[in-house]
Amino acid sequence: MHVVVLGAGFAGLATAYELLKAGHQVTVLERESWVGGMATSWKQGKYWLDHGPHRFHSRDKKLIEHLYEVLDDDVVTRERLSRIYMQERFFHYPLKAKNVLTNMPKLLMVRALWDYVWIRMRQWFKPIPDDNFENWVLKRFGKTLYEMFFGTYTSKAWKMPCTEISADWASQRISQANLWDTIIKTLNPPKGGEVRSLVSEFWYPGHGGIGTIGRKYGEKVREMGGDVRLESPVTRIEIEDGYARRVAFEQDGEEHVVECDEVVNTIPLPRLLETFSPEIGPDVKQAIAKLRYLAIVFVYLEVDQPTVSPDHWVYLPEKHLTVHRISEFKNFSDNVAPDDSTVVCCEITCKWDDEHWNLTLEEGAEIARRDLVTVGLLDEGVGCRGIDLHRLRYAYPVYDLTYKENLDLLKKEAKKVKNLHTTGRQGLYRYNNMDHSIAMGRRVAKTVAKGTDAKADQVAAGQEYFG
Ligand SMILES: Cc1cc2nc3c(=O)[nH]c(=O)nc-3n(C[C@H](O)[C@H](O)[C@H](O)COP(=O)(O)OP(=O)(O)OC[C@H]3O[C@@H](n4cnc5c(N)ncnc54)[C@H](O)[C@@H]3O)c2cc1C
Repeated sequence: MHVVVLGAGFAGLATAYELLKAGHQVTVLERESWVGGMATSWKQGKYWLDHGPHRFHSRDKKLIEHLYEVLDDDVVTRERLSRIYMQERFFHYPLKAKNVLTNMPKLLMVRALWDYVWIRMRQWFKPIPDDNFENWVLKRFGKTLYEMFFGTYTSKAWKMPCTEISADWASQRISQANLWDTIIKTLNPPKGGEVRSLVSEFWYPGHGGIGTIGRKYGEKVREMGGDVRLESPVTRIEIEDGYARRVAFEQDGEEHVVECDEVVNTIPLPRLLETFSPEIGPDVKQAIAKLRYLAIVFVYLEVDQPTVSPDHWVYLPEKHLTVHRISEFKNFSDNVAPDDSTVVCCEITCKWDDEHWNLTLEEGAEIARRDLVTVGLLDEGVGCRGIDLHRLRYAYPVYDLTYKENLDLLKKEAKKVKNLHTTGRQGLYRYNNMDHSIAMGRRVAKTVAKGTDAKADQVAAGQEYFG
């Protein structure tokens, strides 16, 4: 059987890896000149750089074993430290009750507690519906904590009011059901392991940044006979009698066509449907136009001092700062930067082609420097300079209030093609993590190889916490 896999991110690579192991012929088509998709890494001077903080975490023992297999055991583990900077101080994030209680200005704390008690009481006589992000969080945390830790950051990062964001986003990304839960779970962690929200250990490649996972997958796929075509964007999928028969792609300015028995898609679902021949109808085109993405610009600032913070990453929710999150790769692995200097990755969310998307490296570096000085992580006189700037167009699917109905239409259209399977973060328009994309890819491979549904769609489909 010949399977064509679209996209060489972790979902596509994991699919190809497992299919080759099962003895099938695989062609992987990738638009970029590298494998690994969003979770890639590259060397810039003395540093390995990632797209923002990428920590691999999972509670699935088999998946962890798989990670060690792919990385030939070159893995380090770390205890996560991530914080949020608010009101001129740093709080642990996810919130830790003790830290909030000791760190928060007392007056604000009284207000937060009062708001919390009030919102819980209000539930008895005027319940707040879970109809958008703002209401979901307000109901569980009260107004003060909502504004401090959730609303400000989310509306800043998403570039839209929280009342226009689906409650699905909150239920997947916010780790505790309510403040009382936070306090109980922090002071008295549940038996049988921590809840996912409080899992602090994570895995990371010993060398070469997070992208080593993708590079190793790529090497192994090729060693097993897989045909990985880089700089080969998919241009057309020829569908006959409900089956994808051929896939066309561009390489070196020419069109190539491969025959296929099965197709596994991991590229953005709207872009996949646009390659269909015969082409999709106007209703699907309309739904595509309504599905939006949030883009990110990553500015990499080299700093002439050993480190700027102990954190893996820090959220900067306040609106007077342009950067919304920073990360320092040196804290993920000792082998990605020299001892005497460091790189801080500063993320700015944006819309494709807006003013931030079009920032130059010099402009981005100045914004990054200014924000780091404002929060006190960098002294004015310390030498620093921008060494790279990357843009990611399909960084986050936007879960607005109508995304579900539009997405359902797209999924239905894809399902009409009987030998096409769409999966991964882009293939499902799902806000999932690396481990999920790998798990999905492995399950899809099983479905294709065995002909029985291994339920890849059910990975990361629930209300579990993804943070
Ligand atoms: C800033 C940021 C931080 C993150 N941090 C974490 C974290 O800490 N932990 C975690 O687990 N996850 C994290 N993630 C999520 C993680 O990066 C993704 O879940 C994972 O990389 C998705 O893999 P994928 O294969 O599903 O999709 P992708 O990596 O997007 O792969 C899709 C591939 O398709 C290719 N493609 C697109 N169009 C075409 C075309 N026309 N033809 C051929 N190829 C095409 C793309 O180039 C890409 O290689 C983070 C994501 C971001 C943006």
